[in-house]
Amino acid sequence: TPNESELIPFDHSAAGHEGISSNASGSLIIKPCTRAEIDFYESAKDHPLFQAHMPTFIGSLSQHEDQDAVAPILQGASHHGVAAPAGVIADPTPGLIKRATWKPSGGKKLSTGTAIVLENVASGFKRPNVLDVKLGSRLWDDEAPLAKRRKLDEVAERTTSGSLGFRVAGMKIWGGGEDSNTPLSPVENEYVEVKNGYKSYNKFYGQSFKAENVVDAFTAYFGAVEESGDGAAVEKKVTLKQKRARFIVQRFIRELESIQYVLENEESRMYSASVLMVYEGDEDALEESIAREENEDGEEGRINDEDEDEDEDADEDEAQDTKPHKIHEVRLIDFAHARWTPGDGSDENALKGIRSVLDILRSLVD
Ligand code: ADP
Ligand code: MN
Repeated sequence: TPNESELIPFDHSAAGHEGISSNASGSLIIKPCTRAEIDFYESAKDHPLFQAHMPTFIGSLSQHEDQDAVAPILQGASHHGVAAPAGVIADPTPGLIKRATWKPSGGKKLSTGTAIVLENVASGFKRPNVLDVKLGSRLWDDEAPLAKRRKLDEVAERTTSGSLGFRVAGMKIWGGGEDSNTPLSPVENEYVEVKNGYKSYNKFYGQSFKAENVVDAFTAYFGAVEESGDGAAVEKKVTLKQKRARFIVQRFIRELESIQYVLENEESRMYSASVLMVYEGDEDALEESIAREENEDGEEGRINDEDEDEDEDADEDEAQDTKPHKIHEVRLIDFAHARWTPGDGSDENALKGIRSVLDILRSLVD
């Protein structure tokens, strides 16, 4: 197993380019990126409400002009198991990595020469179920050449990007492991790759939906549509799954409402950014996390009631517990074409997508 100073390929992308790495513990990702994305993350500190919905920004890495003169700190970030000096990325303290130098390997796909180090939103889960929803009907920024605008407009026009202001960019969900022998549906056969027990839905999956049936992508993601089988046991299991799906959907609705509020009150533009949604795909781990959260809530109430200082005990419990324990996460990601635009009003292009997703999620639980 790699130690904490090594990088490994990041295996929980739902969409987008290859070449994302992770530290061994999985708490951080390192992603090749544009200068604009780094600028947007760096200036987000002046927009704390927006920042709260972004992955935590750890720092940026850039290629040094004179590579031989500088110890390559994250040599070949897209490659497997290349060493980085211990301590450089081991400690996920925001601001720790300021402007470290970095020597990209071979130059493939890393042409920008810069990378960004971010909190891994999919860490803290045993089996993260990840959905990337790309926002906007317009998907290009002001700098895009005409050919790119035309191409992206064409994709928008034939997908829900045009009609609803969002489309499913990709999805990766836990399929129950290698021993799961549920056959793939015809739709899945066309768009899904199964690997290590996960099902990865490619970009053509999301592009295949129309406004009328895109709800099916969300029911596939939440796993709420199951035929009820014979017998009481099966019946009961399906009911619990559906109950949990409802619980998760309600959590996502709350997060998206908060994102909607922030976008309505900020002046920014982002093109081809995404909402990244994650929830725990392991049913037992999800039950444990929910039970634990209910416990914690109870404890908090008790401590407050008695006005007792039990901080030391609480810290100890936390330190001992390294089990994945998250229930859900929702974040805005992918700011390659994002900027703050004072005076321009709210980002209605992105908001249209957020509102559409909210409509669909509400329709699932109402
Ligand atoms: P691009 O689309 O330009 O390749 P993204 O920023 O959208 O770049 O990243 C691609 C994929 O990587 C996303 O779909 C998402 O699944 C994953 N990803 C990106 N950033 C994070 C993050 N901070 N935590 C977890 N996963 C991420
Ligand atoms: Mn993306």
